[in-house]
Amino acid sequence: MKVVLQNLTKTFPSRNKKAGRDVVAVDDFSFEIPDGKLVGLLGPSGCGKSTTLFMICGLLKPTEGRIFFGEEDVTNLPPENRGVGVVFQNYALYPHLTVKQNIIFPLQNLKGADKLSKAEMANRANEAAKLVQIEDLLDRRPSELSGGQQQRVAIARAIVKMPRVLLLDEPLSNLDARLRMQTREEIRRIQRETGITTVFVTHDQEEAMSISDQIVVMEKGKVQQIGKPQEVYDNPSNLFVAKFLGTPPINVFDGTIKAGKLYIGEANVLDVSDISDQEVYVGIRPEGFILQENGPLCCTLTGVDVMGRDISVVSTHPNAVNVSIRSIIDAENRVDLQNSTVRFGLKPRKVLLFEKKREMRIINGKK
Ligand code: ADP
Ligand code: MG
Repeated sequence: MKVVLQNLTKTFPSRNKKAGRDVVAVDDFSFEIPDGKLVGLLGPSGCGKSTTLFMICGLLKPTEGRIFFGEEDVTNLPPENRGVGVVFQNYALYPHLTVKQNIIFPLQNLKGADKLSKAEMANRANEAAKLVQIEDLLDRRPSELSGGQQQRVAIARAIVKMPRVLLLDEPLSNLDARLRMQTREEIRRIQRETGITTVFVTHDQEEAMSISDQIVVMEKGKVQQIGKPQEVYDNPSNLFVAKFLGTPPINVFDGTIKAGKLYIGEANVLDVSDISDQEVYVGIRPEGFILQENGPLCCTLTGVDVMGRDISVVSTHPNAVNVSIRSIIDAENRVDLQNSTVRFGLKPRKVLLFEKKREMRIINGKK
């Protein structure tokens, strides 16, 4: 089931009636979520992710715009008639019910032609439990489960009605790091096996990048960029997106373009013919640095972290916007900590330029 968002806007009235302006939580959001895909809705806290999700599931009515499931306009349909499964950030299970009763719960409200017999409900619950691998826990109560197990129950409860669309709002935020990683793979597997069109909301870029077919990056209610995770990482359309994706984050420098050459400070670090003379932000991905004895970019060495396969060289530079520069270098390289400086060459594909006014990307050869 494809989901079409058409010019979706949601404004909330200001709490301070006299002075405050309305809050535009979601601003003119248009996107077609392809059938059977997992889309990651990504952005910092307060950027409008949950509001978007609540409009898709019907708990919030858009101020403007329309929502379609397939060809059907569902904008005015109440949540229970949309055929959505939802897992909220606080996936409260009913504490007094067993796992099995929790999963069956949404099925008991089905009416008319959809009404199920007791045996059918039990069957469906067993299937959902199997899918999320909690068949052995069906008779327990939520208090007798770990956080990860509770999470699985919440997912089973969301998919037991065989929803047309699955909506997950930061479903992993209550789990510890290791479990988060495991569970996100699980969600990916379940989504693939069921083929349910899924929207996965998170503020964690790594999480979204690792499991999404496509990501939508939002900031302040506005969509910044939509694309496959790797494409957006390689070709961010503005500095916000570049900074939001990637760990360690992209390193940003003040730079100058003069006569087809890019300078950081006095150093000509790269040739960039076809770009007009101007001040720019230079974004360099951590993997974009090459250790070079006579490399053009000279930084003050402050530390080296060995991380097994790679080493992370930490340094500073007067023209860097970041407090410290993090570069990831192959562990075969040796960095002598006795040295006070470290010199780098740059991989051109990993150097991204942004104009200073609106912080939009400048593509070599296009401006
Ligand atoms: P996210 O899920 O990305 O953290 P939200 O969608 O929850 O962000 O919120 C987006 C913006 O809308 C925030 O500025 C938030 O304060 C505001 N907001 C959300 N819900 C309401 C509400 N019911 N009333 C007023 N403002 C709201
Ligand atoms: Mg939220």
